[in-house]
Amino acid sequence: MKYDIIIVGAGPSGLFTALELIKLDSKKKILLIEKGKRVENRKCPKETKNNCIDCQPYCSITTGVSGAGAFSDGKLSLSPEVGGELPEYIGYDKAKELIKYVDDIYLQFGADKNVEGVKDEDKVKEIRRKAIMANLKLVVCPIRHLGTEKAHDIFKDIQNYIIDSGIELKANLYVDDLIIDNNTIKGIQVIDSYEWKKGNTENIKEIYADKVILSVGRKGADWLKKMCLKHNINHRAGTVDIGVRVEVRDEIMKEINDVLYEGKLIGYPKPYKNKVRTFCQNPSGFVAEERYDNQLSIVNGHSYKRKKTQNTNLAILSSHNFEHPFNQPIQYGRKVAQLVNMLGDNKIIVQRYGDIMDGKRTWQKELNESNVIPTLKDAVAGDLTSAIPYRPMTNIINFIQAMDIIVPGFASPETLLYGPEIKFYSNKVMIDNSFTANIKNLHFLGDGCGLTRGLMMASCSGVQMARLLEDKCI
Ligand SMILES: Cc1cc2nc3c(=O)[nH]c(=O)nc-3n(C[C@H](O)[C@H](O)[C@H](O)COP(=O)(O)OP(=O)(O)OC[C@H]3O[C@@H](n4cnc5c(N)ncnc54)[C@H](O)[C@@H]3O)c2cc1C
Repeated sequence: MKYDIIIVGAGPSGLFTALELIKLDSKKKILLIEKGKRVENRKCPKETKNNCIDCQPYCSITTGVSGAGAFSDGKLSLSPEVGGELPEYIGYDKAKELIKYVDDIYLQFGADKNVEGVKDEDKVKEIRRKAIMANLKLVVCPIRHLGTEKAHDIFKDIQNYIIDSGIELKANLYVDDLIIDNNTIKGIQVIDSYEWKKGNTENIKEIYADKVILSVGRKGADWLKKMCLKHNINHRAGTVDIGVRVEVRDEIMKEINDVLYEGKLIGYPKPYKNKVRTFCQNPSGFVAEERYDNQLSIVNGHSYKRKKTQNTNLAILSSHNFEHPFNQPIQYGRKVAQLVNMLGDNKIIVQRYGDIMDGKRTWQKELNESNVIPTLKDAVAGDLTSAIPYRPMTNIINFIQAMDIIVPGFASPETLLYGPEIKFYSNKVMIDNSFTANIKNLHFLGDGCGLTRGLMMASCSGVQMARLLEDKCI
């Protein structure tokens, strides 16, 4: 089997590479590979069963065609200041132009025409005034909210359009290794995902290609790190984000929800002055669980367009870097997650902020006494402070106290903290502005290589990749 281009990973970055190649009328023979299921087969049983059943071969929340995007909240951040480092590679103006281009494509596929966060300048100024008082920086970013159920439909239509246009899509196919010869990519080794999960590796096959694009997302960051080590691909340790998901009543977050939809706030709280930030705010949303291949349970959040709760959730993430003698942030994050999972019997732990401040664990019966009813039904009441290291925990507590100045009630005793929320995009491949490192014709895209951190930027990186492949970069 031989192709001109193989795209590994059908998340937004891989899909938009394929989509743009079609738009550019590429005559190349293209194969798109995804280790998870096709969009229409991705379902999270937790929605009906309230319990994570550890789906095989992979968790549908994070894996499958449309990547982490299909089941995500689908918030498209329409600013080059949000979503990763793509502007550093292609320039701020180009990034702005690509955002507009990609946003139009999402609109053509049925995205909501409404843009949040641009309505009332005076109210934004008032929120910024309070942020200044709290020593936090407010980043204002227009947001197009697809909503979880709509994002699913949009990506299904994109997937079908790509297939109908002649690109070959192979789902449930795991890319196990790269074939590299003389510092040039020659192809990949693949195996059926179910077989691979069972440990049967006899049926590994080789597929050859002139160019290979690795758009493997956060879920593939660990695999990508292994590939970097095995094939001497230039990379370096990045940042690991350790955090929690906070859940409060909508009434508490009303001002930010109404004016901005998502309040992006950044601070450097004393004494450590690490970067701490809010991330992925979901008004009237649901706290969610993602299952990683290595059995880790990680908390996240999303919100639907129609199905609503009475709670808002958002992540608070504390960024950490390591240098000499330890430089493995993914390992560090995994160890923290393992410890939290161990204390929660492999479930997400939830603890009330007041209990943390009182130095005690939370008990299940105490959760029932609050106004905030947890939306993650199988989270277990427990003690995050026994597992999250002192430094990130202190950062999180201090940040919550600063947030209370902007959002009175945010640091209420009944505020819920779920953990662990950890972002595994900490392996950075050392790419240039054609998204290659030191292996010829091997390209890297999206969240997995540390280039982007969100749906919009991942999609933009795909468009740019396709234009580079077709020599149509304007
Ligand atoms: C619950 C949740 C909510 C989110 N909400 C938002 C939001 O509202 N707004 C926002 O901007 N971002 C959000 N995100 C993040 C967003 O989804 C990602 O930034 C985006 O999907 C990254 O795109 P990507 O193409 O780089 O990677 P991904 O979307 O992760 O896609 C990578 C794909 O590669 C596949 N893959 C990995 N390794 C292999 C392999 N070895 N072989 C074959 N296939 C492989 C994976 O299965 C995956 O499908 C959310 C994420 C989650 C999990």
